[in-house]
Amino acid sequence: MKGDIEVAIIGGGAAGVAAGRHLHDAGIDCLIVEARNRLGGRAFTETHAGCPIDLGCGWLHSADKNEWTAIAKAQGRTIDETPPPWSRSSLGFRLNEQADYRHAFNEFEERVSKLAHADKDAAVADAMEPRGRWNGLIGAVVTFISGGEAAEVSALDYENYAYTDLNWRVVEGYGATIERHGEGVPVAFDSPVRSIDHSGKRLAIDTEKGTITADRAIVTLPTTVLVEMENLFKPALPAKIEAASNLPLGLDDKMFIALDKPEQFEKDSRLFGAKDDSKTAAYHIRPFGRPMIEGFFGGANARKLEAAGEGAFFDFAVSELTAILGNDFAKRLKPIHIHRWAADPFARGAYSYALPGKADCRAVLAAPVDDRLFFAGEACSKHDYSTAHGAYRTGIAAAKQVIAGRGN
Ligand SMILES: Cc1cc2nc3c(=O)[nH]c(=O)nc-3n(C[C@H](O)[C@H](O)[C@H](O)COP(=O)(O)OP(=O)(O)OC[C@H]3O[C@@H](n4cnc5c(N)ncnc54)[C@H](O)[C@@H]3O)c2cc1C
Repeated sequence: MKGDIEVAIIGGGAAGVAAGRHLHDAGIDCLIVEARNRLGGRAFTETHAGCPIDLGCGWLHSADKNEWTAIAKAQGRTIDETPPPWSRSSLGFRLNEQADYRHAFNEFEERVSKLAHADKDAAVADAMEPRGRWNGLIGAVVTFISGGEAAEVSALDYENYAYTDLNWRVVEGYGATIERHGEGVPVAFDSPVRSIDHSGKRLAIDTEKGTITADRAIVTLPTTVLVEMENLFKPALPAKIEAASNLPLGLDDKMFIALDKPEQFEKDSRLFGAKDDSKTAAYHIRPFGRPMIEGFFGGANARKLEAAGEGAFFDFAVSELTAILGNDFAKRLKPIHIHRWAADPFARGAYSYALPGKADCRAVLAAPVDDRLFFAGEACSKHDYSTAHGAYRTGIAAAKQVIAGRGN
C-alpha cells in the first residue's frame, strides 16, 4: 500500500468512486482506502445462474438526470426503461381499491408537504389521517422509501427529496457499473480505517494495513458507521458525529427468490404481502422477465427479520405469498440470496433519513473541516440523499473542493 499521498478517499462506494475517478483523471495523486475487497459499497451486484442481481441499489432514480445513466451507457451497458412496478397496478389488489389507496397516498404526501413548510418540523407520521384505512400500507411504503418508520422521519427532509418520474435499470447491474467506474483509480482494499489524526501538519490515517499520510481526505463513510466509530477523528469532531447521528441509516433488505413456472405472472409485476400492515413486504415478480421474485423488506420489519437470521426472510416471504396465492405456491419458491445491510459492519443500514427537526444536519455533515477534511456520501445531499446518484454528486462536489483548495 502506498503510504504517502496527496488525497485519501475514505470509502469506495458511489461517492468515493466518483471522487476518486475525478481526482485521478485530473492527475492528482489519490488513493481510495476501502474496508472491503471490492468497490461499490452499498452498490453491489452479484451473479446468480448467469443473472446479475443488485443486492443494493438497483434503480437509476431520476434516470434522465442521473449521471450513472450516461456512465452505464458509455460502458456499453443495456438500460431497461420499463416503468417500475410501483408505478403500475399491483396483483391481488382490486383496481378500485388501488385507486383509493393511491389517492390516500397522494393526499398523505400533500399533508407532508404542508407539514414541511410549517414553522416546526414534524414526523411524516403526523401527516397520516387519524384511523385512515390505508395507514398500514402507507407506513410500509414509507419504510421502503426512507428505511425509517414514519414516526422517525422528518417531513422537511422527505419534502426536500427531488426526483423526476423516470426510473430505469442497468441490465448488467447498477453495482457493477459503479465498480467499473473506479477501474484504474488506485485503491487499497481490505484496509478498514481506524482513525484519522488531523492534529499535525499532515493527516495520519491509521488502517488495519498500516498508516497513510495525506494532505487532504474525503470521508465518505455511511453515517451509522461514523457514529459507531467513536474515536475516528483525532481530535474528535463532535458536531460532525452529532449531525451523522441525526441522519441514521434506515434499513431495507432485498431477498431474491427463485420462482418455478414464472410464466403465470406478467414480467415486472408486483404484489404487496398485506394491504393493512406497515410490517409487510413488497414483491417484484419476474424482474427483467427473470424467473425470480425480488422481495423488499423495510424498517422495523427488516430489523426484526435480520435479528432472526437469513432464513427468517424466506419464511416470512413464503407466509405472505402463500396467504395470497395458496399453499401450493410454496413448492415453487427457493431462496437465492439476501444481504443483511444492518448486519454489514461497513454499511450498518441501507440509506439515510433525517430525524424530525434535523434536515439541516445534511449541510453540517457535508461542510469541510479546516479545508483539508472533506465529506461526501449520500447523506450529505440535501435533495438526492439515499441514492447512488446523490452519492455521486457529493463525491464530485468534494473532489472539486479539494482541487479548488490546492496550493492554499
Ligand atoms: C437494499 C438497498 C436498495 C437500494 N436501492 C437503491 C436504488 O434503487 N437506487 C438508488 O439510487 N439507491 C439505492 N440504494 C442506496 C444506494 O445504494 C446508496 O445510497 C449509495 O450506494 C451510497 O453510496 P455512498 O458512497 O454514499 O456510501 P457506501 O456505498 O456505503 O460507501 C461507503 C464505503 O465505505 C466503506 N467503509 C465502511 N467503513 C469503512 C472503514 N472503516 N474504512 C474504510 N472504508 C470503509 C464501505 O465498505 C463502502 O464501500 C439502495 C441501498 C440498499 C441497501
